[in-house]
Amino acid sequence: MKKSLLVVANWKLHPKTLKEAKSLLSAYSLPRGLSLVVCPPSVFLASLQKGSKSGRIAFGAQNIFYEKEGPYTGELAAGMVEDVGAHYALVGHAERRKEGETDEEIARKAGAAARAGLTAILCIGERERDEHGFYLNHLKSQLEKGLAEITPALLKRVIIAYEPLWAIGASSPITPRDLEETVLYLRKILHSLYKGKGLAAPVLYGGSVSAENAASFVNTGDVNGLLVGRESLKPASFNALLDTLAHA
Ligand code: PEP
Repeated sequence: MKKSLLVVANWKLHPKTLKEAKSLLSAYSLPRGLSLVVCPPSVFLASLQKGSKSGRIAFGAQNIFYEKEGPYTGELAAGMVEDVGAHYALVGHAERRKEGETDEEIARKAGAAARAGLTAILCIGERERDEHGFYLNHLKSQLEKGLAEITPALLKRVIIAYEPLWAIGASSPITPRDLEETVLYLRKILHSLYKGKGLAAPVLYGGSVSAENAASFVNTGDVNGLLVGRESLKPASFNALLDTLAHA
């Protein structure tokens, strides 16, 4: 049976205005059989969600905070994001880890997102690959620590996004074979953490995904979908990518 695929578009700090955000969204063409989550800058979430003609596109925040409310200037609670119609939140993206976010904070964010009814997209990935395979220990540790507050009952509210840092924003994605091996490794860890139920958690790949390589990641790499950065800002390329996946 063909698996249903999920694509997550991470717009990062783009575009500059709400008008441009609306026009980018309206240029998307989502083929049947694919699910799409758009993660715009959070300040655009409510308007985009309200104005979205296609009930088939879901929305997510690029980051949330772990507290529900209080004296935390500049933060956004998971419940607030959910209240304006978003259903997802990226947690632990490499670009936030680079700013000093710790595994413990990420675990609290993932837990807060899931308890608020959002699906947490927990991002993990190694900085570099070494020939001895130490990077696998790093992935294991990020996964185990990031899921610390995710009980078996909350696991249905979690998606894992495997994004090797060296592949994000670069021109060097992983090879589909290396991806297949890594995803198998991650699924084994999920399996042992959740006594078999872990295999139900979707695993996505992100890092220099394009229309040219997207199909190979889902066909050979055995992922449940893709997390796309730069290419999601170019409607023609992104629609081509979606189209390729619909036929993968
Ligand atoms: C990302 O931001 O998560 C990402 C995968 O970016 P890019 O597709 O540009 O490599």
